[in-house]
Amino acid sequence: MSINKVADLINKDTLTESELSYLIALEGTERDDFLKATGNKYIGSLGKKVYFRGLVEFSNYCTKDCYYCGIRKSNTHSERYDIDDQAIIDAAKFAHEHKYGSLVLQSGERSDLAFTQRITKLLKEIKAVTNNELGITISLGEQSEDVYREWFEAGAHRYLLRIESSNEDLYYKIHPKDLKHDFETRINCLKTLQKIGYQTGTGVMVGLPGQTYEDLANDLLFFKEMNIDMVGMGPFIEHTETPLYEYKDELWSLQRRFDVTLNMIASLRLLMPDINIAAATALQAIDPMGREKALRYGANVIMPNITPTEHRKDYTLYENKPCTDEGADECSNCLSIRVEMAGREIGYGEWGDSQHFFNRQEKDD
Ligand code: SAM
Ligand code: SF4
Repeated sequence: MSINKVADLINKDTLTESELSYLIALEGTERDDFLKATGNKYIGSLGKKVYFRGLVEFSNYCTKDCYYCGIRKSNTHSERYDIDDQAIIDAAKFAHEHKYGSLVLQSGERSDLAFTQRITKLLKEIKAVTNNELGITISLGEQSEDVYREWFEAGAHRYLLRIESSNEDLYYKIHPKDLKHDFETRINCLKTLQKIGYQTGTGVMVGLPGQTYEDLANDLLFFKEMNIDMVGMGPFIEHTETPLYEYKDELWSLQRRFDVTLNMIASLRLLMPDINIAAATALQAIDPMGREKALRYGANVIMPNITPTEHRKDYTLYENKPCTDEGADECSNCLSIRVEMAGREIGYGEWGDSQHFFNRQEKDD
């Protein structure tokens, strides 16, 4: 009966909250069947291509105080760094030369003029030194519409801003309730990014204290309702120097958080077949083959870390962050072999834009 139920759900055009909750909570052989069938369906219809984004975590200075994050402003034990512009440009050149297709620039959140102008200049320089051939995604938090527009015009065309949880009550359990961490502002930022013309990405953490399967199902429905182009979802991993650490004994096991994240990826792939879904780095902190497993069951984007090695250990959002002591070359070699082992092909030199973005533009015309 239940295997048939999974088969029925996989073939439905859309899924309800209760159907999604059912899939997200699956365990055992029924879960194995669901993941395999979804992966095969997706790869069969959309192909094997996986796109690389070279990830540069260029600074861990942050003005915010999210309760889960190891680089939050109030963590005085975090060693702060800011990679100089030339090293960032060199990392971009590395991505270009190795045919990664795209770059992701990520950091803690700052919105002072020195920071925003520096990013504008960097974006223009990266575009120039790579002959406009490198796609650029940025993930630099909440900014004003003017700043988002300035960065778009300087060459960034995709933006990642996770909603973290679409349940407003849970959002305020994991963030201070103040103007700097306002739920509505975050949603409005996503809408502004879409209005400007960015391919817009969001996502959530899986296994937060108090989070339910229904919350997670509603997160997926939120992505659909918001017409999101790209999603990154990873397991929540507690960090000793953060306020959420006090809930460590109430959390699902790390393995359960990992398994549910894969269930989320497969369920989202059924709900939104044409979006980009990233195999989040946090999966690899739990299972060495974590990201490759995500690629088998619906993810199509992977982000090799090309941050200069000496700083990787300081971008510690959570404990046991992977690849903190490898050079970029080492990381990319091991990844290409791993992607092929997962039965996928790398789209070398391609931007790997979200098909959903173009499909929704056509609908709007
Ligand atoms: N500061 C920007 C922002 O918050 O959007 C971008 C950088 S932030 C470090 C990137 C993502 O890391 C967040 O959206 C969050 O989901 C994830 N993250 C932070 N702490 C984490 C933790 N303890 N476990 C898992 N993911 C975490
Ligand atoms: Fe700063 Fe982003 Fe971490 Fe929040 S999640 S503390 S904004 S780096």
